[in-house]
Amino acid sequence: MKCKRYLPPEQLQEFLSQFDAITKIIGFSVQNRPIKMLEIGSGPYKILIWSQMHGNESTTTKALLDLIPWFIDVNQEKLHSSFTLYIIPQLNPDGSLVYTRNNANNIDLNRDAIKMSQPESKALKFIYEKIKPNLCLNLHGQQTIYSAGKEGKSAILSFLAPAADLECSITPARRRSMGIISGIVKLLEKEISGSIGRYDETFNPNCVGDSFTQSGTPTILFEAGHVPDDYQREKTRLYIFEAFKALFISILQPNQAFEPKDYLSIPNNEIEFCDLILSGVNILVDGNEIKKQKIAIQYRETLIKDSVHFLPEMKAYGTELDLRAHKYTKLPASIQTSKIEFHDKELIKNRALINLLSLTN
Ligand SMILES: [Zn+2]
Repeated sequence: MKCKRYLPPEQLQEFLSQFDAITKIIGFSVQNRPIKMLEIGSGPYKILIWSQMHGNESTTTKALLDLIPWFIDVNQEKLHSSFTLYIIPQLNPDGSLVYTRNNANNIDLNRDAIKMSQPESKALKFIYEKIKPNLCLNLHGQQTIYSAGKEGKSAILSFLAPAADLECSITPARRRSMGIISGIVKLLEKEISGSIGRYDETFNPNCVGDSFTQSGTPTILFEAGHVPDDYQREKTRLYIFEAFKALFISILQPNQAFEPKDYLSIPNNEIEFCDLILSGVNILVDGNEIKKQKIAIQYRETLIKDSVHFLPEMKAYGTELDLRAHKYTKLPASIQTSKIEFHDKELIKNRALINLLSLTN
């Protein structure tokens, strides 16, 4: 099923209805929407997978739409007898409907692991304790700002073996996560060379992944990142699907002894990118005209009616910028005389930028 960035619960349900026999309701959201879980396979190695605990991070959910039928396919006998997957495609259906990170009580479910204040957090914890999984996959999406390492490429995929304590000790559970991630990265290396990053490991016991790792369950955080120009994230979706397949291989491969140093050699996520740098722009700052400036633009994802729009906002301007962009555009000479007016330290009004960008297309 092809989809754009917006994947509301009803659209997901259109897909899930064919799997009713293996789907059950594990709880209800703040606004009483059902939280669903699919159980697939019959193997002893249990993997608990949840996506869209942040409602505006739909890419990994889209990859689950690819994984589910692929895994069910009869030719995957070896996988069926090795693994049982417990898949929660949308832990935060209320946030998914309105395209927000937080749930309907405006709580970040990935900061609720200690308090357990929200029904969605409780549903996940209940299932976690009931299943006692061998591995957890905590699926997320990342903004376009991250690179894989300093001056590296755009981070298309990023992973984290969450810490279990402030010292970021390599506990047995964490070591296992590190090994599986290293296996995935090795398998995907050729395909997306230099575009895989390692997410910040700072310990935060309020985060679900850190909490489960602390409880002794290997957990892997997936971050679906950005392929330049792929704002609908259909390409990233395929890479996430590839990463799922690589994960099974990584677990099943005997004698694959990865050391923590293999994991630690994956380049860190750095914040280095903006979406667009527009050059040759004359701007008015508090009445003074500054000529031939570069402006760094970041798109803000905004749900308007039934689709996500990418509204430009200015992050910085100057003759030299301390940022790289996924795209560079020079304002054509014919429109270089146009001026953008704004006041220092204030974002350029969306409308002015939208108008300006429409001239460059
Ligand atoms: Zn997230």
